[in-house]
Amino acid sequence: MSKLPNITTSIFSVMSQLANQHGSINLSQGFPNFPEDERLLQISERILRENIHQYTPMAGLPLLLEKIALQTQKQYNRKVDITSEILITAGATQGIFTAINTFVNQGDEVVILDPSYDSYEPSVLVAGGKPVRVSLNDDYTPNFNRIESTITSKTKMIVVNNPHNPAGRIWTEQDFEALETILEKHPQILVLGDEVYEYITFTQPHISFNTREILKHRTIIASSFGKSLHVTGWKVGYLIAPENLMYEMKKVHQFLVFSVNSFSQYAIAEYLEVVDFSEVSKMYQQKRDLFQNLLKDSRFELMPCDGTYFQVVNYNAISKENDVDFAKKLITEHGVAAIPISVFYEDATDKHMLRFCFAKTDETLIAAAEKLCGI
Ligand code: PMP
Ligand code: GLN
Repeated sequence: MSKLPNITTSIFSVMSQLANQHGSINLSQGFPNFPEDERLLQISERILRENIHQYTPMAGLPLLLEKIALQTQKQYNRKVDITSEILITAGATQGIFTAINTFVNQGDEVVILDPSYDSYEPSVLVAGGKPVRVSLNDDYTPNFNRIESTITSKTKMIVVNNPHNPAGRIWTEQDFEALETILEKHPQILVLGDEVYEYITFTQPHISFNTREILKHRTIIASSFGKSLHVTGWKVGYLIAPENLMYEMKKVHQFLVFSVNSFSQYAIAEYLEVVDFSEVSKMYQQKRDLFQNLLKDSRFELMPCDGTYFQVVNYNAISKENDVDFAKKLITEHGVAAIPISVFYEDATDKHMLRFCFAKTDETLIAAAEKLCGI
């Protein structure tokens, strides 16, 4: 019997494959298409010849753990113990799967905010848990009345993705306070904070669960070097959690992957000595502004984009077709691939919205915008 009877191929694979098949500009799946930083390439070429090709310790290369601890201290003023509070994972995807499958038991409920990233629900289902999907407001801000009303004695976890994929919105101080007020009444609920876009924010600084005194003792934070260092294919991410939670997650991790590939860990550890994370938001802000400017006279309506490298648009002025059909037509007839937003809702809520990834060269964005402006 299938554990995931209603899950099909991820929309990211589907749209990228369609884009390739039709030779269209791929702004669907989120990955950069610009060249990697020369400094990371040089480090990589050099260390490939060194003695780095065997298993690293299970929880991660100690030098990389140290670098993450230093960065967490610098960025969020949180001291994390490298022996007990950090775990290197094969991308945030494995971190999220590990966190959910460590703590969610048969029948436990997990609150997921829709539109939601596609890996949360299957991770909960494999664990035997029950995903409880709660829609964000129309402007993609959290609706705390709805969140509170779904909590039961079986609620085990809430997943908070901030900055948010696909909507590109970020949580405010008031949002965190509202969540804290609710969760203080429910000490059994764990928080899974998916912060993979923590270094890509434009309108206000990212507020991390690393800084939330009330919740951090029961929060697992997932992050990814794929996003912050533009190496999605390297699949290196990490979890930060208090020792009692991390102890349990390491037990699962060691039989899921044991340890993550050594080469990427060595290269990233060394690169973290020279990289400046504040450059990441600046670079993407320029790309967001360019893309928004290019589309401002088009018939697409731009939604606010406070963070991430995704721009959501409404196409009501162009078509009344459902978003999946419209996205397919955009590929086959207009040569640009995007992600339809309805796929991120439990009930496929269709508000005629598409997500474009702007982590692309300026040339790619200009070429795509030219096509989009002609529609
Ligand atoms: N969470 C979110 C919100 C994401 O957008 C992604 C990547 N698309 C991931 C998790 C997974 O990250 P990784 O590629 O490091 O597994
Ligand atoms: N996170 C990426 C996105 O949102 C895709 C990740 C994947 O393909 N699994 O587009």
